[in-house]
Amino acid sequence: MELRSGVPLAELTTLRLGGPAHALVEADNAAELVEAVRSADERGEPMLLVGGGSNLVVGDGGWPGTVVLIRSRGVAVETDGDTRTLTVEAGESWDDLVACAVAEGWAGIEALSGIPGLVGATPVQNVGAYGQEVAETITRVDAYDRQLGTVRALSPAGCRFGYRDSLFKHTDRYAVIRVVLALSASDKSGPLRYAELVGTVGEVAPLADVREAVLELRRGKGMVVDAADPDTWSAGSFFTNPVLDPAALAAFEARLAPGTAYPSWVAGAGHKLSAAWLIERAGFGKGYGAGAVRISTKHTLALTHRGGGRAGDLVALAREIRDGVATRFGVELRPEPRLVGVAL
Ligand SMILES: Cc1cc2nc3c(=O)[nH]c(=O)nc-3n(C[C@H](O)[C@H](O)[C@H](O)COP(=O)(O)OP(=O)(O)OC[C@H]3O[C@@H](n4cnc5c(N)ncnc54)[C@H](O)[C@@H]3O)c2cc1C
Repeated sequence: MELRSGVPLAELTTLRLGGPAHALVEADNAAELVEAVRSADERGEPMLLVGGGSNLVVGDGGWPGTVVLIRSRGVAVETDGDTRTLTVEAGESWDDLVACAVAEGWAGIEALSGIPGLVGATPVQNVGAYGQEVAETITRVDAYDRQLGTVRALSPAGCRFGYRDSLFKHTDRYAVIRVVLALSASDKSGPLRYAELVGTVGEVAPLADVREAVLELRRGKGMVVDAADPDTWSAGSFFTNPVLDPAALAAFEARLAPGTAYPSWVAGAGHKLSAAWLIERAGFGKGYGAGAVRISTKHTLALTHRGGGRAGDLVALAREIRDGVATRFGVELRPEPRLVGVAL
């Protein structure tokens, strides 16, 4: 494996931000991935895994240790009745996998069309969109455990999936090597749950129609990465939708004018609010910002870097929005992407 130094992380992230990596190694298969992580650990160097760089905000100072770039490939398919079990290496493109599943007539991930990045990162924040989450189809995650020095097979329960959350989001202990997904042989998707999607294709629809509808909805919001459109140069949604317990919800409602309607969903014992609604009502509309960093003109939740800016500028904008929402509504917004070398 070739070791390179000084590679700007801006070249490897969809935000096009981030200073140089002290060292960078590309892992082209599972054995190289384990070896790269193990040897960085043995050298005592800080190690950062990078897939598609679509959920990363890297500071202008870069990364002081080794970046392991995941490029391992391979998909194996097993058939058992109507179940198709896909064993997918971490470096496969997520959206290519979705396109393949749709073309083959394997249902379960079609609403997750157009999410950038690689398969190995999908369990990290349990990617979700348009009423589906990857946790619904994951049956196993193989990960290298840096503490034990072995590869372990983690069950879905062991992955502790939640809303944009999992075990992997809170620790650097694991490098995901491959993901196993169980899909159903069916050319139809449904019952669909997401109102905007149901409004376009109905409650049950052919997989290909669902994929096309999702891609179209996402393009309208700048949520499909497009090299020609700076409105898509983001890390996706910058903030997660906050989940409030009953006491926090009552405090939030007390700050609203009587009769104000607001979007919310039941989430466990609490209520999930719309981060986009809060941000807009706190005075930060689409296109807000100046110069190189702005809120996308197509989507309030996406902070974009339009070239020539610095990570510090983006973080300053994120801070301004977070503080504005806290002052107006008493609700704390939390960032969705991984922040590296920067803090909100
Ligand atoms: C335009 C746009 C739209 C998006 N839309 C959505 C959406 O609809 N829903 C959604 O959930 N997300 C969305 N995202 C966020 C992002 O695409 C996903 O989180 C994606 O899974 C990140 O994959 P990646 O390979 O780019 O990860 P990276 O950005 O490379 O890494 C993200 C984090 O995961 C870690 N990581 C990466 N690979 C591994 C691995 N193999 N093992 C362990 N840790 C690893 C990294 O160290 C880092 O902490 C969007 C992003 C963009 C830019």
